[in-house]
Amino acid sequence: MRLSRYFMPILKENPKEAEIVSHRLMLRAGMIRQQSQGIYSWLPLGKRVLDKVNAIIRDEQNRAGAIELSMPTLQSAELWQESGRYDAYGKEMLRIKDRQDRPMLYGPTNEEMVTDIFRSSVKSYKDLPLNLYHIQLKFRDEIRPRFGTMRSREFMMKDAYSFDLTREAAEHSYNKMFAAYLRTFDRLGLRAIPMRADTGPIGGKLSHEFIILADTGESEVFCHKDFVDFDIPDDRTDFDSVEGLKSIFDKWTSLYAATSEMHDEAAFNAVPEGDRLSARGIEVGHIFYFGTKYSEPMGAKVQGPDGKEHFVHMGSYGIGPTRLVPAIIEASHDDNGIIWPASVAPFDVVVINMKAGDQACDDTCELIYAALTKAGKDVLYDDTDDRAGTKFATADLIGVPVQIIAGPRAVANGEVEVKDRKTGVRETMTIEAAINRFVA
Ligand code: ATP
Ligand code: MG
Repeated sequence: MRLSRYFMPILKENPKEAEIVSHRLMLRAGMIRQQSQGIYSWLPLGKRVLDKVNAIIRDEQNRAGAIELSMPTLQSAELWQESGRYDAYGKEMLRIKDRQDRPMLYGPTNEEMVTDIFRSSVKSYKDLPLNLYHIQLKFRDEIRPRFGTMRSREFMMKDAYSFDLTREAAEHSYNKMFAAYLRTFDRLGLRAIPMRADTGPIGGKLSHEFIILADTGESEVFCHKDFVDFDIPDDRTDFDSVEGLKSIFDKWTSLYAATSEMHDEAAFNAVPEGDRLSARGIEVGHIFYFGTKYSEPMGAKVQGPDGKEHFVHMGSYGIGPTRLVPAIIEASHDDNGIIWPASVAPFDVVVINMKAGDQACDDTCELIYAALTKAGKDVLYDDTDDRAGTKFATADLIGVPVQIIAGPRAVANGEVEVKDRKTGVRETMTIEAAINRFVA
């Protein structure tokens, strides 16, 4: 991508409305724009990051055996009347009428709709287990939307829903998502700790919130500090192994970890004082097992091996991609801007032409740009005629992991500078060596 032809509206001044660093940096880097309160456009740079986050989420959901579909944002009120949640949900639900005066709503979550899909076509235990997910916009008319896309009214959610014949089978489905979540957040460069959680309006029996520790987090959390160094399930994890997944779950729930709603002061005080961590956190994921809470009122049942009908045991599993992007920034930035983990960086590398219009600089940059693009890298080429200082500031602000800097003096020697955004270390090397670093 040539910056001269891209759309990346950088702000020079700090936006006054931004209270936390991630919101400030997302606005300054031209990643998002607020359209009305708590409702955002994702501008091209932001969209790239969001897509990368979603690709990792999708990859890990698929690995764990979940199947992707797509459900609509608008739902009929009827389904919610069946479950009893139409009245219970309250003011967070955006209620709409169509031209026939039929009550509709903008989905805040999808338990009812997915249960309807399930009951219309699954009749036998032989079709279980089943886990269906989508990545879709949701709307909740939050009383206090704030911190940019961290807490917005319209937001994206990956929501998965599992269906099983028995409680035991449902617990295995829960453990699959539990392990998938650990892997997902790790690949996003984050350390998320599963904490016992309140089941809230979704209702349920077993529930964990995945929390990232951050000073700007809205939740108050308490946990054992060893969680910070626990091993993440690797890519040989067998998601069909009931025992294997149970042992991951047992290990990751063996020490104290709870959000303030579930906090047990006495149990926490039993943790040796030096191991206690009480901090603030950002909820990036939430998983529930809720048994037959929706399958019973909505009549979602299958024939079991005993020939009888059984209401299915369900769970639901949410991750917030549009919250994760600012959460990653909260965890990874410095005074100059964002520092993206390579896995979600909008571009793998930025090529900075320090003197656009200078033949040698232009030729060198074009050569590098073409070679890296051909190698399948996402390359941003700053070919604008801005001052070098402005270009460096922009490159640092948008947080691309590696910068290749081509200035007249180095280029005359057949060299460029390669800068690591995170460490700030700059190395001078031949043009060929700079290319090979990515192509090899
Ligand atoms: P919170 O306690 O932060 O209001 P919640 O418990 O209501 O969230 P869930 O129903 O568990 O949220 O939704 C699953 C995930 O969706 C959350 O873990 C979070 O990542 C994301 N999410 C929920 N509400 C919002 C929001 N208003 N803005 C952005 N992301 C959200
Ligand atoms: Mg929650």
